[in-house]
Amino acid sequence: MMAAARIQPETIERLPPVRGRLRTCVDLAPLTWFRVGGPAEILFRPADRDDLAAFLAACPADIPVTILGVASNLLVRDGGVPGVVIRLGGAFARVDVEGERVTAGAGALDLTVAEHAAASGLAGLEFLSGVPGTIGGAVKMNAGAYGREMVDIIESATLVTRSGATLTMNRDAIGLFYRGSALPEGAVIVEATLRGARDDASNVIARMRDIEARRAASQPVRARTGGSTFANPEGIKAWELIDRAGCRGLRIGGAQVSDQHCNFLINTGNASAQDIEALGEEIRRRVHAMSGIMLRWEILRIGERP
Ligand SMILES: Cc1cc2nc3c(=O)[nH]c(=O)nc-3n(C[C@H](O)[C@H](O)[C@H](O)COP(=O)(O)OP(=O)(O)OC[C@H]3O[C@@H](n4cnc5c(N)ncnc54)[C@H](O)[C@@H]3O)c2cc1C
Repeated sequence: MMAAARIQPETIERLPPVRGRLRTCVDLAPLTWFRVGGPAEILFRPADRDDLAAFLAACPADIPVTILGVASNLLVRDGGVPGVVIRLGGAFARVDVEGERVTAGAGALDLTVAEHAAASGLAGLEFLSGVPGTIGGAVKMNAGAYGREMVDIIESATLVTRSGATLTMNRDAIGLFYRGSALPEGAVIVEATLRGARDDASNVIARMRDIEARRAASQPVRARTGGSTFANPEGIKAWELIDRAGCRGLRIGGAQVSDQHCNFLINTGNASAQDIEALGEEIRRRVHAMSGIMLRWEILRIGERP
């Protein structure tokens, strides 16, 4: 059930007119992989890049702005998200392949981008087929799987800053590191240019199918989850620590540690964000007590507690 929103009626009145959609008190749970969390005070879906830039330029600096992809790496807390949540729609989902370059809108799904590259006989982007997010989320998080990550394929990203300026940053300036980046706070990625290498399309497609099969065998890919909960500490897998600390299958309320892959937390049906966060904290406590290692959340937690 949606928690009471902290809606301040004057917020929407302080926002500039837009061509896209601006709505108050929008339930975010259906927009997230975990299917939990409270409402956005305001949800903005820009009509296009110009609409987004004009909005950010005129949006008062004291109104917080949060960007959402498809929330496959996010836990939205039950009290909801104050200020404006921006979600990119179809106008930001274009994918073009030219030579060895793939230019993808930030709202394009990673799988769609991998499929375009494969169909054009471009290798190197196969890993994206198993990451269930958008290109914007992939750049921001330096998404990776099976030995490759965004830093290996990205040439540049175009973004709109919190003050409404559009700029293109090359790979080094983006500052990608293990499951993160050094992008400016509040900047919205609108497009990324990726580079592949020529190969036979059938080889690329076969590798993608292999990734899908390996993933389905090892991860709860159809569950309400946020993917890997904790980053792997240097030299050791987070799931091994969690398993050794006896947390496999552990439950708090409607949240459970996956039996299949114990670095995945699952909403078994009626979990609250609070259940999921409390379960994550309990895992950290137990792993620390057992090993002295404090796990770092890889899943981002946003919004307020009720
Ligand atoms: C079943 C499952 C499997 C997963 N497997 C993997 C995996 O193998 N490898 C991996 O790396 N991840 C994995 N993940 C995690 C997740 O899919 C990735 O982190 C993905 O890149 C997140 O993309 P998203 O669009 O869902 O971003 P969100 O979760 O919506 O957001 C993540 C972060 O990116 C920011 N963001 C999103 N879009 C933009 C934008 N346009 N501009 C600026 N910032 C933006 C958000 O503000 C937030 O900080 C998995 C998740 C699930 C549920």
